[in-house]
Amino acid sequence: MFEKVLIANRGEIALRVHRACQEMGISTVAVHSTADSDAMHVRLANESVCIGPAPASESYLNIPAIISACEITGANAVHPGYGFLSENARFAEILEAHDITFIGPKSDHIKMMGDKIVAKSTVKALGIPVVPGSDGGITSEEQAMKVAKEIGFPVLFKAAAGGGGRGMKVAKDEDHLLEALRTARSEAKAAFGDDAMYVEKYLGQPRHIEVQVVADAHGNVVHLGERDCSLQRRHQKVLEEAPSPALNDAGREKIGEIVRRAIGKLGYLGVGTIEFLYEDGEFYFIEMNTRLQVEHPVTEAITGIDLVREQIRIAAGLEMSFTQEEVQFNGHAIECRVNAENPKTFAPSPGTIRGFHTPGGLGVRVDSGVYTGYKIPPYYDSLIGKLIVHGRNRNECIMRLRRTLNEFVIEGVDTTIPLFKDLIADPDFMNGDYHIHWLEEFLARD
Ligand code: ADP
Repeated sequence: MFEKVLIANRGEIALRVHRACQEMGISTVAVHSTADSDAMHVRLANESVCIGPAPASESYLNIPAIISACEITGANAVHPGYGFLSENARFAEILEAHDITFIGPKSDHIKMMGDKIVAKSTVKALGIPVVPGSDGGITSEEQAMKVAKEIGFPVLFKAAAGGGGRGMKVAKDEDHLLEALRTARSEAKAAFGDDAMYVEKYLGQPRHIEVQVVADAHGNVVHLGERDCSLQRRHQKVLEEAPSPALNDAGREKIGEIVRRAIGKLGYLGVGTIEFLYEDGEFYFIEMNTRLQVEHPVTEAITGIDLVREQIRIAAGLEMSFTQEEVQFNGHAIECRVNAENPKTFAPSPGTIRGFHTPGGLGVRVDSGVYTGYKIPPYYDSLIGKLIVHGRNRNECIMRLRRTLNEFVIEGVDTTIPLFKDLIADPDFMNGDYHIHWLEEFLARD
């Protein structure tokens, strides 16, 4: 097992990884920018190294500085968290070349899933259902028109290098096709330096349902059920729950097994998430994330499995600590992403946290890196923390969530807590009756 792990991230996820390491008797190294000297992940880690100035491009994305930090401290493995370098195949390769273990999948798989055109054709060949669309990329405007007519309008243009909902444009009919394609291309070029595009059928009111998998180097592959992440704003997840209100045990078992078989054939290593749109009882693959997800705690809550611990075990060459038969789904869990944002306009609200009191009690988990007196820097994302609530069933979970949202005190900055209070009181939410556009419609109501 590793003696010392360097955590190449910040905020709540750096703390999350630190906690798993401490429980495994592993010493941790925090890295930080000059803007994060007082951050909780730096205070709690066994050692810390400043790796550069505030902008992420010069610190948390600075590969040479992170390698140096490993060498200075003698860390023999790196956990990348999510975001930053977590899906950077080159980073994984460079670490390997320095004899440092990347706690994540093989770089080939990161690369493969990072190109969404390659990802889609790969998983299709492995038996995973995909959204109807172009087989491969778009080669010309004429071909785009031909494919669009075959699959039927509306269609969605998506960037091969896409992420965070950028480089996507809907064309509602033939007349709008070229404009949508050209806008998506230029957006993708600006965001990713790559304007390769593909096109697929635009689904009207699907849910976003994703399946968690874990695979080790000993041939074991397990699925841990699904998460429903349909509540999104601008393609960003806001609230996630497990299990999905839209699936029953048979549906879960069916998609779980399809994914498990495919991931086994791929020879994948570590944790991964296969994201689907789900409409009229059918699943359609949209992408695979080759890392730990922000919303992983809802799966941990209903399975009792520590996903970060499993990641570390697997990276160290051990077997994962459970089999598919041993996985049991218990109750229901919901996560709210509490951001430092105005709950109506979503304008970022950086500043100093004047008062901070987290809710507690049975079934309540708060993953957060902030404290009273902490100054939220303006350079990074606005996540203050994640509130994860578990109950014996969905009703109990919602009642508990309502109670904890009322208990949560964050003073000094605006937060999205008021939004969650309204959202979970809505009858559609209570009935589990929502889709990926529902939240935007809800927000536009008054
Ligand atoms: P990104 O990598 O940019 O996040 P995804 O492929 O994961 O892109 O899609 C992000 C979101 O865009 C999905 O969660 C869904 O809300 C929407 N979306 C993607 N593909 C489609 C589609 N074919 N039809 C309708 N909505 C889609």
